[in-house]
Amino acid sequence: MRKIQMVDLQGQYEQIKTQVNKSINEVLESAAFINGPHVQNFQKELETYLGVKHVIPCANGTDALQIAMMGLGLKPGDEVITADFTFAATVEVIALLQLTPVLVDVEPDTFNIDPEAIRKAITPKTKAIVPVHLFGQCANMDAIMEIAKEHDLYVIEDDAQAIGASYTGKDGVKCKSGTMGHVAATSFFPSKNLGCYGDGGAIFTNDDELAHTLRGIVNHGMYERYHHDVVGVNSRLDSIQAAVLRAKLPLLDAYNKKRRMAARAYNEALHGIDDIIVPQLSGDCPNITDDSDCHVFHQYTLRILNGKRDAVAKKLGENGIPFGIYYPIPLHKQKAYTDPRYNDADFTVTNKLAEEVLSLPMHTELDTEQIEFITTIIKETII
Ligand SMILES: *Cc1c(COP(=O)(O)O)cnc(C)c1O
Repeated sequence: MRKIQMVDLQGQYEQIKTQVNKSINEVLESAAFINGPHVQNFQKELETYLGVKHVIPCANGTDALQIAMMGLGLKPGDEVITADFTFAATVEVIALLQLTPVLVDVEPDTFNIDPEAIRKAITPKTKAIVPVHLFGQCANMDAIMEIAKEHDLYVIEDDAQAIGASYTGKDGVKCKSGTMGHVAATSFFPSKNLGCYGDGGAIFTNDDELAHTLRGIVNHGMYERYHHDVVGVNSRLDSIQAAVLRAKLPLLDAYNKKRRMAARAYNEALHGIDDIIVPQLSGDCPNITDDSDCHVFHQYTLRILNGKRDAVAKKLGENGIPFGIYYPIPLHKQKAYTDPRYNDADFTVTNKLAEEVLSLPMHTELDTEQIEFITTIIKETII
């Protein structure tokens, strides 16, 4: 059996070496390291893949979130609602821009932001909602867009973990994650579903005017050379990363399918066991099938109940099986983001999840033998 890795980028590279090396070599030969043709072509190819009017490449997913918020013209003191259960980058940029983060609880089945909790957190100062499509599955965008419309709020999708996932709305229209809100941010960090070989990110929007604003912000606030109309940042996707991404984008759907098949195999082995809850799919597509793309399993995350999580984690470790605890501490309890306005009782779900979640190895190269080994160890520990 191959050594089990949390994410197997080496194994994946072996499969795509020829395309990737050729693409990177073109950049080396042309020396167009910044804003070269690969960056422009990647932008267009991703726009086509997503069915979105504008993709603005940038340096990483955290920048993408920050620039999206800058582009919307949010002002210090504006309140931005986001999930208590996410990677810290989401709340970090809100705080960094001196906006006021308002953390709310998530749903126990999908781990995604709870629309009812959003509703309760709205005040006259609320300006935006940042749903995070956690672990590869879209938040309840029907409900979120409805709340946003009612209260005239912006919706900034954090799509760092769900690129390639789709969402079928109440109206039956199917769209890709990151194309439903006013603007979205994604990350091409190597371990993400579409990862480059360094840092990278992008912002998506269907709004022409906002896209123009964002293109200036990523480039020092310049719309005309050496005219700085707004305060911007320097945030670029470099050509070598774009070259890697161009080689990998045509494989994204196949990669996401491989993740889904691994998830299905995990589910088949682990469902129906007391003390284990396998990942739940949201209402619009309840079953994992070859073609259902509502969940792209950035992470395959179990809930292990009744205090047994840490024993399972220990046993996995003893057997050389890597695992992740995403996320062990709810953001409202983090020193940097705690706030006297929060009441711990409003975060019952995240508090529980922090003690129950366990993410298993998930990548495009997992094989049946590895999944069998991992699930056998878990079953032996639990039963
Ligand atoms: C990875 C991630 C980010 C940040 O992306 P970077 O490219 O690492 O800056 C933001 N939000 C979520 C939910 C993420 O998983």
